[in-house]
Amino acid sequence: MRINVRVRIRGIPLWAWAAAAALYFGAAAAAVEFAWNRAIDALAEVGAHRLDLYAASLKSELGRFEMMPAIVARQDSVRALLGAGPRASPEIVHEVDTYLEAVNRDAGSLAVDVIDLQGEVIAASNWNQSLSFVGTNVSYRPYFKDALAHGTGRFFGIGTNTGMPGLYFASAVRDAGKPIGAAAVKLSVDALEAAWRAPGEAAMVIDSNGVIVISTVPAWKFTALKPITADRQREIQASRQYAGRTVDVLAYRRGDDWSGTAWLGRFPDWRNKGRSTQFLVMSRPAPQAGDSVMVLLDVAGARHQQQLALAFVTGAFLIAGLYALYAVQRRRAIAEKLKAQDALRLANDRLEMTVAQRTAALTAANERMQQEIVERKRTEQRLRDTQQEVVHAGKLAVLGQMAAGLTHELNQPLVAIRTLCDNARTFFERNQPAQAVANLERVAKLVDSMAVLTGELKAFARKPDVERVAVSLNEAVAHARLIYEARIRDEGVQLDVTIPAGSAVWAESSQLQQVIVNLLGNALDAVRDGHRRVIRIAAADPDERDRVLFTIADSGPGIAPEVLAHLFEPFVTTKPRGHGLGLGLAITSRIVEGFGARISATNLVDGDMRSGAQFTIEFAAATSQRVVHGR
Ligand code: ADP
Repeated sequence: MRINVRVRIRGIPLWAWAAAAALYFGAAAAAVEFAWNRAIDALAEVGAHRLDLYAASLKSELGRFEMMPAIVARQDSVRALLGAGPRASPEIVHEVDTYLEAVNRDAGSLAVDVIDLQGEVIAASNWNQSLSFVGTNVSYRPYFKDALAHGTGRFFGIGTNTGMPGLYFASAVRDAGKPIGAAAVKLSVDALEAAWRAPGEAAMVIDSNGVIVISTVPAWKFTALKPITADRQREIQASRQYAGRTVDVLAYRRGDDWSGTAWLGRFPDWRNKGRSTQFLVMSRPAPQAGDSVMVLLDVAGARHQQQLALAFVTGAFLIAGLYALYAVQRRRAIAEKLKAQDALRLANDRLEMTVAQRTAALTAANERMQQEIVERKRTEQRLRDTQQEVVHAGKLAVLGQMAAGLTHELNQPLVAIRTLCDNARTFFERNQPAQAVANLERVAKLVDSMAVLTGELKAFARKPDVERVAVSLNEAVAHARLIYEARIRDEGVQLDVTIPAGSAVWAESSQLQQVIVNLLGNALDAVRDGHRRVIRIAAADPDERDRVLFTIADSGPGIAPEVLAHLFEPFVTTKPRGHGLGLGLAITSRIVEGFGARISATNLVDGDMRSGAQFTIEFAAATSQRVVHGR
């Protein structure tokens, strides 16, 4: 199985977190240890100073009294008293008593007494007090025994009479080198204890039994630091050293040694009843008072130092961690920014590429379009050429048609002229000049009608290029009406004209007249054989496209269906020979186109003019000052 090593928390791999945690715990442990060691070392230094101080104060405090028993022992009256033994006079006893009282008062000790060889106190500073030592036997006290045996004795004990604890110094009283008794001084340690009492600290003096005899903690007094053997207990009882009390062992737990003179131990806390506290315990020998002087220093300060160190390390780690997180985030942000920039650049490149591709495609499309334009132009040219060819062919066809028409139209009069001429010659030969002249007159008429025909042809062939101007429709219609006035009257035609006054169109005046004359002529032809002869000429106001609709309608039979499709082509006619060439509408439509207008024809299907023909011309209204040049 593969372990996923890419687990990340806040972007930091798991192993880095684990390493940081290990580093933190290591550093914290080291810092706590270091702080502890330093603090305890400092405490040990303080303890050493304290011990120095206590030892010095013991020395100075007790040293003052050390020589006192020896001085008392050298006193003549004392030696006399002891030398006299039971025979001593009351005077000498009194003298020694008062001497001891004075010495005791001057030195500030608890009591000074003189003891005979049997251990009986025979004189004392408190000789006149109720709890006087006089008469008490102290033979069982080690200080007395030691003084007789070794010259001096020293002992800490509780007074059997007074019940007050005190330190006893004793010295042998000699006469000729032989001990005859002892002098003893008892000191109070209350002042010492009071002076030593310091907050958070316990100071004590331990005697040779391992029993605390001086202590700033009253409850610990006369307790032992180590168990006392049964034999020793018996001895203690016998010497009544602690006024017959059994010595209990102080309930403490010894911990690790710190150095040769210091160790850690847990003691019942005298400041907090029921609790135990750890102390740094230090001791040093103190021969003046007993066995040793000992001091207990609270390690709370060291614990506090540890907490501070832990807090410092934790704080430092937090700051470092935050900085690391910040650095990681920043690095990631920079990386992301770079990535975004790369992506942008890529997108840009892609865009540029796309633009280039599109541009290329557009250029290609453009080129294709150019080619297409060229191709189209070419096609157009071809078309135009073809059109021209078609037009040419059309023209040829028209020409053919025209030639056929003309041949037909001209052949008849020519044949007639030929015949008339032949006949005229015959008349001349027969000498009938009148007939001959009549024939010649008929020939002249035929030639005239042929001239009319060729005249119409000329009009058809004329180029319709004109310059257009504003022409009054009313005027053009009035002109046509004038031309046909006699016919209208003779044939009884009703001609209605409704054209708004001032109605003008873009045209050429004489050509417009010709157009209207042609259309009116056809209408008159159409109505001639009808029983109702009505012709209506009308024009409307210009429409929104500036067009003027001009109409001419008649009550005639209408345009023959076979003619309607070819109405504006030349030589299309239904009229009998000699009455029409079929060129009128062809010319009319060419002229109208020349105006830029459009002509159309239809047969009316309803209204009073039902079945008649109606011709409509869409003129450009001459409403503006525009001048348009025709083709
Ligand atoms: P033409 O008058 O010489 O025949 P047009 O070109 O003027 O030549 O007319 C061609 C033909 O159109 C006429 O022969 C006639 O059949 C028809 N046409 C023209 N105007 C009318 C009209 N108002 N009513 C009926 N037919 C007409």
